[in-house]
Amino acid sequence: MSPSALPFPEAERWFWRWEQFATSAVLHRIAMARMWYAQDGSLAVSMGVDGRTACGMSGRLFVPGVGSRLGAPRCRSCCRALGIPWGEGAPYNQAGAEWRDA
Ligand SMILES: [Zn+2]
Repeated sequence: MSPSALPFPEAERWFWRWEQFATSAVLHRIAMARMWYAQDGSLAVSMGVDGRTACGMSGRLFVPGVGSRLGAPRCRSCCRALGIPWGEGAPYNQAGAEWRDA
């Protein structure tokens, strides 16, 4: 799976790429997402997304808080599907890594 084939390629939405289920701290890469919108047309990010992950899980996922974006473990299966190393935190925080936009 190519990272460019996944949703949220825009740099300003990088923090929506890796999300968590309500019951787990593990960060999963969103492969498909249905967003919720507020009445004013803005994205209701706090509602989470109904999504499917790169590792094949489905359900409601939520944008992690800053601490989780920096330090929560990434899903090993999502990392394998994207061809990036396993590690902690959203890849966008990995300055200089060629896979930071995964
Ligand atoms: Zn995963």
